[in-house]
Amino acid sequence: MIQIEEFVDERQKSWCIHCGDYIVGLTTNWDHAPTESLLDEPIPPGLPKVRVCKPCNEGFSSDEEYFRTFLSCVLSGTTAPEGQKNSKVRRALARRPALGVEIEAGKREFSTLGGGKMIIWQPDAPRVERVVMKNARGHAFYEMGEPMLEKPDHVWVMPLVSLSREEVDEFENVATSGWAEVGSRMMVRQITGADLDDGWVVVQDNVYRYAVLQRGGLTVRSVIRNYLATEVHWN
Ligand SMILES: [Zn+2]
Repeated sequence: MIQIEEFVDERQKSWCIHCGDYIVGLTTNWDHAPTESLLDEPIPPGLPKVRVCKPCNEGFSSDEEYFRTFLSCVLSGTTAPEGQKNSKVRRALARRPALGVEIEAGKREFSTLGGGKMIIWQPDAPRVERVVMKNARGHAFYEMGEPMLEKPDHVWVMPLVSLSREEVDEFENVATSGWAEVGSRMMVRQITGADLDDGWVVVQDNVYRYAVLQRGGLTVRSVIRNYLATEVHWN
């Protein structure tokens, strides 16, 4: 990805965007947004990152491993380690069989009207939502320079296939009528088109894209592996 300088108020960088703690003078870590483990190797250079406190950075790793493993199982249609494309997911499932059992427990089979079978995988929603929210905070901060310290007004995560045609159109439409704040990375993207495709910031083709919108508050959307649609909104 293209690295973009930003010129937002430096004071906005005094707090960890996840817990709100004052981080000046503390040990901090660079936290990638999106989470690297949601991407394919090789990780794109210039991946957006933000400074967060160390406990927050480390505190997400178990949920992130769950999320990555869950997605891999859904997309491969199995929780068997050998069925996974990614070697890290194969190892995680082999090392922690309970993880596969937990994911398998959320698998439901339905008969469709046409007589076929359809499988729906129900994730551990709070774990998935924590990762989605973490990335949304990272995207909002990286693009707009806005630390979204409040609890969001809604977080939703849905497979794209479960949305109607109209809902997909509505979700995909991230065109914004106004210009992002002067000095923000989003403004630079709007001017130069850096990594932008119809308003979406493309991190990795067919793997991860996100959009940050200012419409009646702040909304962050993402599409993960062309399968999962997410939205986090602050009024
Ligand atoms: Zn923190």
